[in-house]
Amino acid sequence: MAILRFRALEAVQNRDEVFVEPLQNLQETFASNVFTLSVMRQYVSAEAYEAVQGLSAGSTIERQVADEIASAMKTWAVSKGATHYTHWFQPLTGLTAEKHDAFFTLSSDGRPLERLSGGELSQQEPDASSFPSGGIRNTFEARGYTGWDPSSPAFVIGTTLCIPSIFISYTGEHLDYKGPLLKTISLIDHAATEVCQLFERGVTQVKVTLGPEQEYFLVDRAFFEARPDLVLAGRTVVGAAPARGQQLEDHYFGTIPERVINFMIDFEAEALKLGIPVKTRHNEVAPSQYESAPFFEEMNLAVDHNQLLMDVIERVAKRHNLRALLHEKPFAGINGSGKHNNWSLGTNLGRNLFSPGKTPKDNLQFLTFLICTIKAIHVNADLLRSSIASAGNDHRLGANEAPPAIISVFLGQELDGILNELEKTSVQAKISPKAPLQLGISRIPQLLQDNTDRNRTSPFAFTGNKFEFRAVGSSANIASPMIVLNTIVADQLLKFKAEVDARIEKGEAKEVAIVELLRKYVKESKAIRFEGNGYSDEWKAEAKKRGLSNITSTPEALDAIVSKASVELFERHSIMTERELHARHEIRLEIYAKKIGIEAQVLAEMSMTQVVPAALQYQKELIESVEGMKDIGLPAATFASHVDLIKQISGHVADIVKGVEKMEAARAKAEATEAARARAIAFQKNVVSQFEPIRAAVDALETIVDDERWPLPKYREMLFMK
Ligand code: ADP
Ligand code: MG
Repeated sequence: MAILRFRALEAVQNRDEVFVEPLQNLQETFASNVFTLSVMRQYVSAEAYEAVQGLSAGSTIERQVADEIASAMKTWAVSKGATHYTHWFQPLTGLTAEKHDAFFTLSSDGRPLERLSGGELSQQEPDASSFPSGGIRNTFEARGYTGWDPSSPAFVIGTTLCIPSIFISYTGEHLDYKGPLLKTISLIDHAATEVCQLFERGVTQVKVTLGPEQEYFLVDRAFFEARPDLVLAGRTVVGAAPARGQQLEDHYFGTIPERVINFMIDFEAEALKLGIPVKTRHNEVAPSQYESAPFFEEMNLAVDHNQLLMDVIERVAKRHNLRALLHEKPFAGINGSGKHNNWSLGTNLGRNLFSPGKTPKDNLQFLTFLICTIKAIHVNADLLRSSIASAGNDHRLGANEAPPAIISVFLGQELDGILNELEKTSVQAKISPKAPLQLGISRIPQLLQDNTDRNRTSPFAFTGNKFEFRAVGSSANIASPMIVLNTIVADQLLKFKAEVDARIEKGEAKEVAIVELLRKYVKESKAIRFEGNGYSDEWKAEAKKRGLSNITSTPEALDAIVSKASVELFERHSIMTERELHARHEIRLEIYAKKIGIEAQVLAEMSMTQVVPAALQYQKELIESVEGMKDIGLPAATFASHVDLIKQISGHVADIVKGVEKMEAARAKAEATEAARARAIAFQKNVVSQFEPIRAAVDALETIVDDERWPLPKYREMLFMK
């Protein structure tokens, strides 16, 4: 009966260490599997190299140039052991997708050749009819195509050359995350450059940078495989809390177990070969929880690298007989996992726009970007919230753990004080051509340097020279929140520029115009700023008073994608059309409903086919024992506690059986609901709500049923790796 669990325990006990050589030569390793620009330069003509520089994803490229690049890429890839190529893209499932084609081809006289043509490099047609399209592709026009993104270098994994690509329908709609992301990167470049030129004429380009910190759990592979819920849903749907959880707080930044270190050395080497600049590794708060953080990069690359990193982590973990759990909440009762998105803007002159500068002018520029961002978050909080909504993330946002579902911005005491001061000061009086700014703005640098004040409970925190968006789920494709963040900040920057220009036109001095507008923004967006404890109940009450949303469930959070404001925003900047937004809305709702459906099914199956039989077996033994006691003439009092246990088991079993019946009825009804939004809501309101009573009964049984009979690896077994 309980065989799998015991086999797993035995396997874990007999594990041989997988030792790994520490990284030998960083220079040689780093990006060795990447077709970087410098590699390309060695393989192609100067003209072809030039031509690639200016290319954007999906744009047409001269046949000859494409052929030359493709051939070079193939030659290089073959030298790295590749036999196949694929367009590597990011469909709206949130995963990455690939379809491998061999370089192999036959010459006219039947000899085998290896070839990659310019056409094949530029475009591929995956038979992609089963990727979600939210109704954009009817089956009769099921084809979509992928187009090469030359701004992210190709790479080799195993025997496959992967070509980063966008994914579009035949009618030209985006069916992926990368396409819209690239547009928002150009948009924010344009908007931020315009604003920079108010301060510094030499700025011609602004790059958006991103450093995503990735959290994950590790469990032994044997335990993972013995738990249908981990295999099918990525999280445990049952499991009693162990005597020791994270209350000792001894895991965070503690010594990393030997076995895990070996895994980390291994996966980091793989990541480095792919050009992913992994830098930091440490234990996280929960037992068996870890983090990997890279150096920040230009955003398109950072997003691709995060998708790849998740893949590398999962792949290499298996080599070490481990399984990596990227789910937002694999275990109840201990912390879940997120992905902190460190986001900033940098100019072509090398300046970080979120770093306070040395001169008052620089600081005014810094405050401009800071305040425009705060204002953008305030105006578009619901849209930002929608970008991180998922079934997994619902366990974090809105539960009693970081960060809350209420979007707010944390600045730290000093900056908060400066904005308050700015709000109060009458600038008109204080600004004169001779002494342009007397706002205390010049004090910013020293103050921020010792700003070690780190509010971990804020979903969107300023951390010295960047913002850190912490509410993103650990398994998410971070392009989703970054598309929104780039767009709303760009939109705000453009509005700011237009308003400043209008004021200057009316004869206002430039600096007066800027400061006055910032003052207005500070006032208007004050409600979004919060310095206190984001997990507290007081904040919930306070946020409500301030008119901030607190949307705790995904189906409701997703509404903002198709709000009038959202459609106008994305259409105004030609990022996505209304049709594309509706498609995305639909797909996200569908993914949500499917995930909950799977969780419900696996919970029902495990409860009925594993837990209940184990409990009844144990109960039968107890009954036999009572009968035996009766037979030898013992008085009833001697087996009263046996009887009590028997009754307890009956009670829990009854709760499970009734609970599963009710849940299955609700699931069937939800499943039959036609409209996507109504279906998702039916799953959330009527199915998710049935999980807890079933789980409570299962977990209660776990604490009384004979350990020898318990079929599922227990939390204490899975979580405390040595
Ligand atoms: P922590 O947040 O743990 O104190 P750091 O502040 O050093 O650590 O960095 C956290 C993450 O922020 C890293 O991935 C780092 O590369 C990234 N980061 C640092 N500067 C920037 C920036 N200008 N733009 C984007 N990300 C950045
Ligand atoms: Mg951080």
